Amino acid sequence: MDDKNHTDEELREDSGRDRGKENGDEFEKVCFMCRRTESQAGKMISLPGGISVCADCMQKSFDAMDNPEIRNMLNLQNLSNLQNFPDMGMINLDLIRERLQTPKGVKKPKEESRENKEKKKTPKAVFDIRSLPAPHRIKAALDDYVIGQEYAKKVISVAVYNHYKRVKTDTNSLDEIEIEKSNMLMIGPTGSGKTYLVKTLSRLLDVPLALADATALTEAGYIGDDVESVLSKLLSAAGNDVEKAQTGIVFIDEIDKLAKKQNTNQRDVSGESVQQGLLKLLEGSEVEVPVGATSKNAMVPMTTVNTKNILFICAGAFPGLEDIIKTRLTKSSTMGFESRLKDYYDDDPDILAKAVTQDLREYGMIPEFIGRLPMMFALRKLDRGMLVRILKEPKNAILKQYQKLLELDEVKLDFSDGALEAIADEALSRDTGARALRSVIEEFMLDIMYEIPKDDNIGKVLITREYIEHQGGPVVTMRGVESALLTAGPDSGN
Ligand code: ADP
Repeated sequence: MDDKNHTDEELREDSGRDRGKENGDEFEKVCFMCRRTESQAGKMISLPGGISVCADCMQKSFDAMDNPEIRNMLNLQNLSNLQNFPDMGMINLDLIRERLQTPKGVKKPKEESRENKEKKKTPKAVFDIRSLPAPHRIKAALDDYVIGQEYAKKVISVAVYNHYKRVKTDTNSLDEIEIEKSNMLMIGPTGSGKTYLVKTLSRLLDVPLALADATALTEAGYIGDDVESVLSKLLSAAGNDVEKAQTGIVFIDEIDKLAKKQNTNQRDVSGESVQQGLLKLLEGSEVEVPVGATSKNAMVPMTTVNTKNILFICAGAFPGLEDIIKTRLTKSSTMGFESRLKDYYDDDPDILAKAVTQDLREYGMIPEFIGRLPMMFALRKLDRGMLVRILKEPKNAILKQYQKLLELDEVKLDFSDGALEAIADEALSRDTGARALRSVIEEFMLDIMYEIPKDDNIGKVLITREYIEHQGGPVVTMRGVESALLTAGPDSGN
């Protein structure tokens, strides 16, 4: 799941646009080099240009600089010469060294004052109805990151808005009419953005999020995590703040793996009983949860978490569900004028969107479980056009990340339309949705990222379809040539 954590500071900027300006909250920093978040890698060192680097990576860079071979290679006699290293001049190395040398846990007066400032800026009340963004604003913010999936974004924005509205009002005004929980069930092929949608949402709303995998959950007493472990994860995501955890989001992926096995005579111990176990969490109950661990034992302190206001989002690819839907649809339309041929729905890309609870019951989900997930919706399988858009459009698009990286070497990176299509085609052939994009592009970019910094004269690189299809190289333009061409006329730069 690490690769999903690449939402960067632009996400923070976005939160700033929506709410941050009013209440000053920020998202977690991500290390520019190893992509770990601040909670994983520890305090980040901020560099000019909004870049954060964790202490480990910074230390590794310095260790590399201390290596005599590398120093010789770079013609650096001592570290103070680093100021002459391209792009390093702007970095205050002394400050970084000072930070690295400060033992962990020892706070410097300057940092303290910044922390205090942050505390003062912490949001007043995240779930104040007046500051809770309206569904169209939630969707607009999601649009910046999640490409396509319009229907899913709309449903999730409304559901989340209603959920937090309910959280805010249920104890006060709505005594008689109790609004039902808007727990959700997302159906969609792998890599279509289910997890990404929820992650982005929790960041935008600044609520704790626990990601769990249904396949790891077992009935109490069996080896594995019992269902309460999802709440322990949420509690730790909320920094062990029970109140905060109680209004967080729990995302349970691979929920289809809990389906009752079809046509078997064996007793199915796992799936169905885990569904049963989840029921009480989904509808709202007080649960004893171990603090700081995912399993209960005598040594672990316990706390009580009320799940009434926790939003549960379950998701799964439900392979084979299409056939159940198709059979139902064709069965109901085999008579009369409306009658349809058996293969009528075979090429329907939106077949999953036609799922009803009856289909899920047939799939093996128990009715009580589906009943507690009233918002059910599907995500579309990503096609070539959507994959190309995912490459370049989101605020933290993969292309933008590479462009930013090379920009630090003062190299302009471009991709031709043909190259983007070829990357999307290659990803499509792997059949793991948008997840394949990153690995495909990383394979092609490895050589570029290795070769380009070798030559200071390179000013521009254009990745072409031929390069992606192994039939040619990228178009590289030298600095002098580029400026000469540019002065010659606007068209000659290409
Ligand atoms: P799954 O549906 O299997 O949970 P993910 O949400 O994990 O898929 O998607 C994998 C990665 O693909 C995400 O981290 C994200 O970068 C990218 N991605 C998937 N769908 C979209 C989308 N609709 N828009 C932008 N990026 C997407």
